[in-house]
Amino acid sequence: MASHYTLAEGCPYASNITSVQVRNGSGGGLVLMQDTQLIETLAHFSRERIPERVVHAKAAGGYAVFEVTHDCSDITSASFLNAVGKKTEVLLRISTVGPERGSADTVRDVHGWGMKLYTDQGNLDWVFNNTPVFFVRDPIKFPSLNRSHKRNPRTNVPDANMFWDFHVGNPEGIHQIMHLFSDRGTPASLRHMNAYSGHTYKFTKEDGSFKYVKIHIKTQLGVKNFTRETAVKVAGENPDYLVQDLYDAIDTGNYPLWNVYVQVMDPREAENYKWNIFDMTKVWPHEDFPLRQIGRLTLNRNPQNYFTDIEQAAFSPSTMVPGIAPSADPMLQARMFAYPDAARYRLGVNYQQLPTNAARSPVYCPFQRDGFMNFSTNYGDDPNYVGSILRPTVFAAASKGNGRVASTITEHEKWVGEACGFATQITEEDFEQATALWEILGREPGHQERFIGNVADHLRGVTDSRLRNMVYVLFSHVNAGLAAGIQAATEASLS
Ligand code: NDP
Repeated sequence: MASHYTLAEGCPYASNITSVQVRNGSGGGLVLMQDTQLIETLAHFSRERIPERVVHAKAAGGYAVFEVTHDCSDITSASFLNAVGKKTEVLLRISTVGPERGSADTVRDVHGWGMKLYTDQGNLDWVFNNTPVFFVRDPIKFPSLNRSHKRNPRTNVPDANMFWDFHVGNPEGIHQIMHLFSDRGTPASLRHMNAYSGHTYKFTKEDGSFKYVKIHIKTQLGVKNFTRETAVKVAGENPDYLVQDLYDAIDTGNYPLWNVYVQVMDPREAENYKWNIFDMTKVWPHEDFPLRQIGRLTLNRNPQNYFTDIEQAAFSPSTMVPGIAPSADPMLQARMFAYPDAARYRLGVNYQQLPTNAARSPVYCPFQRDGFMNFSTNYGDDPNYVGSILRPTVFAAASKGNGRVASTITEHEKWVGEACGFATQITEEDFEQATALWEILGREPGHQERFIGNVADHLRGVTDSRLRNMVYVLFSHVNAGLAAGIQAATEASLS
């Protein structure tokens, strides 16, 4: 802690904290232009806010440790996974998706899970959700989906008509709708929540072989959820309930713990598997691809400063390390563009240099020079172009890399030619896993009834009866009794 205030440029500041004023004789004072700190203070205040994330604005976060628990060298050469017991520092940010930064965090929503592993071979971001599937599989629908969950452009309030209009018109999201309106749509605590990659990724090895994987992060404290009624009540009492709960738990040493698993699929199995593995609206059933543990995650340190550590954090599915690679999932491919683009808009072109985003391992990336707010050494007098023969020592040192990008392009992509077809067509198969989840809810007393109540409570906001009827038809493809239950509960609440 400094012993005295200074100006931002370091000049010691006068001992009192008032502005410099000239008395005018009648007891008042005139401020002077030369009081530059007054001007700086007001001008800086006007600029304190950076653009809010267009989605995932409201969040909690902290630091964690990832520890390898099981050998997985047979499926990946990722350095941070190469020895049982190896630990990697992690930044974790857990968010709601649709509502704004100041919104209540217990509202029904999917929850985002941004995780940055500061590995010894650069950063790895796992940008997951607390559901194993997603609403759409065609990335061009992504902005529309999110707008339909936000505010009506005319009334400026969230609108059930918009929400259901989008989902009736894009029914591939029914599986995710089933997750959203189950109890898991209102977690009672971020500590008691799972996270899933949703996307299919690749685990790669140095010999060029790879496996397809899905990643599951499962709470060791047990999944706990609020009922709709409790979630609404808590939202009114403390809109920051989940943020506070996580902070307090870490602060008191009550560290949340998750186990990290992968489902592993051989590329040959993928070719003949019942489900298109690049379809983000589908899971891989556990029975076919059992979970295999690779590690554990312990969240054990609160941020020192929320703005610098969490708000300025930028996560992207494109941030990867050798041993992990993207698949041909169109949503993943699109997110690999969209997330860094959002960070450039929100934080500036040098966002990767911010301390919270900077790799802990050495960085030499002369592809990126200069730009606004560049506070690195900017590679000093090294060539500001790549492939120099005048300074070959620099080039050689920088080229000891791993070829991550090249290694992701494999022969296997050649058989995958149906991205357009599967992304646009809807078949009865799209309802099968939604039906499976409906049956799983039936294993837990009262869950199916709560699900019907959760949908009906939202659906009664739909003023257009034609649209309500289309929603009943949508759910009838999942289960006839479910659709009838929703219809009866919704229409009864309107009469
Ligand atoms: P299983 O019958 O093998 O296992 C059931 C799984 O359902 C559990 O492992 C649990 O996932 C999940 N589950 C249990 N209760 C709920 C709930 N209230 N809300 C959401 N998920 C719940 O399942 P399958 O693998 O054969 O898949 C059947 C359905 O289970 C899928 O259609 C999917 O909706 C759901 N599910 C499947 C997952 C997967 O990756 N296969 C992951 C999560 C859900 P968990 O252990 O992760 O909590």
